[in-house]
Amino acid sequence: MSNITFTMIKPDAVKAGHIGGILDKICAAGFRIKAMKMTKLSMETAGKFYEVHSARPFYGELCEFMSSGHIVAAILEKDNAIADFRTLIGATNPAEAAEGTIRKMYATSIGENAVHGSDSDDNAIIEGNFFFSGLEKF
Ligand code: ATP
Ligand code: MG
Repeated sequence: MSNITFTMIKPDAVKAGHIGGILDKICAAGFRIKAMKMTKLSMETAGKFYEVHSARPFYGELCEFMSSGHIVAAILEKDNAIADFRTLIGATNPAEAAEGTIRKMYATSIGENAVHGSDSDDNAIIEGNFFFSGLEKF
């Protein structure tokens, strides 16, 4: 069972003023923040982060969007972190996300869907290390 996941509050949600609302849901769901920062991706760093999707038709659009404004990156800790966090954020497409999930509440489209959540234990470690040095994790 994993106990670490990685998240980003994406540019759409930051621009719309939802950092506080989203962090409140995350903390209320029992996640502990191990690392957190606000930063901005370039086209190049967004491309690297989402490299796994480089063959998908929406890759260019995804990188444009993810580099279009500030993001909040965080490493979160909780028992069963990967699965529980994906339940908390809801389906990729907010139209299909369950009531009360972060994407249902704050996302506007499948492309601009408010938050990222890691999909595996290995990727949570890789993604956390992409943004944070050892000195920034607590
Ligand atoms: P994330 O990895 O951001 O947590 P996810 O795991 O739910 O999202 P993925 O399949 O990994 O979904 O897709 C990564 C991101 O690419 C999505 O969150 C979304 O922003 C974008 N995306 C996925 N599918 C589409 C699509 N059909 N059209 C436009 N953008 C898409
Ligand atoms: Mg994903």
